[in-house]
Amino acid sequence: MSDRRPIIGGNWKMNTTLAGARDLAQAVVQAIGQDGARQADVVLFPPFVSLAGVAGTLGDGPVALGAQDVYHESDGAFTGEISCAMLADCGCGYVLTGHSERRHVIGESDDLVGLKTRAAIASGLHVILCVGELLEEREAGQTDAVNERQLRAALAGLGPDAAPRLTIAYEPVWAIGTGKTATPADAQAAHARIRQVLGELMGDAASTSIRIQYGGSVKPANAAELFGQPDIDGGLIGGASLKAEDFASIVRAACSDPARPR
Ligand code: PEP
Repeated sequence: MSDRRPIIGGNWKMNTTLAGARDLAQAVVQAIGQDGARQADVVLFPPFVSLAGVAGTLGDGPVALGAQDVYHESDGAFTGEISCAMLADCGCGYVLTGHSERRHVIGESDDLVGLKTRAAIASGLHVILCVGELLEEREAGQTDAVNERQLRAALAGLGPDAAPRLTIAYEPVWAIGTGKTATPADAQAAHARIRQVLGELMGDAASTSIRIQYGGSVKPANAAELFGQPDIDGGLIGGASLKAEDFASIVRAACSDPARPR
């Protein structure tokens, strides 16, 4: 049983125009309603170019805004990159680091993810750090080792004071956008080990308080069972976050666990 407040993120990836992003944000707010937003932290991650527009749509309401990536330097000759301060200036309170598409499509190293994670936390943003294994790593029995390596690289040097600005997303790469989902038992086992590693790195109190989301083909049909596991504190949602009703139904699944705080 956990008393951690659920957190659900909608990662829109490289989808939506500015007008489409604003419409989707509005539809999500309506579909979730006051209740959903009161019972869980809900964060939308539109493309960079729609952040300011979506910030205007969300206003001071309960749904928060995040960016899909960030660069660790504060300013200067880094063509194409976006700093932490720029994100905050657009109204972002959250940022993803280490998403598997950044790691495995764009080629970001563990070290770069670490630089971004530490810079974003230092700047006051709330980081959702994504970790997870490739299919061949899973088949070789390396799931926990990969997660541990990515966690240690990203969180090196951070103490328990960073915990309130940190969420982990466990996203097995083979489950992202594929329609395949980890079984609730397998996901729970990976989450429990991640929580143990957080304890070794940041102390027991931090590891108990840090939320760990599951991501990888979460849908309305499988969300409740996943979120019912003791160490799964919500989800990072890709494809299903592009449909307001599906996303809202996933948020409701996270709110339906009676052990969670309201
Ligand atoms: C994601 O983008 O983080 C993700 C989990 O995508 P999907 O839900 O589409 O698998």
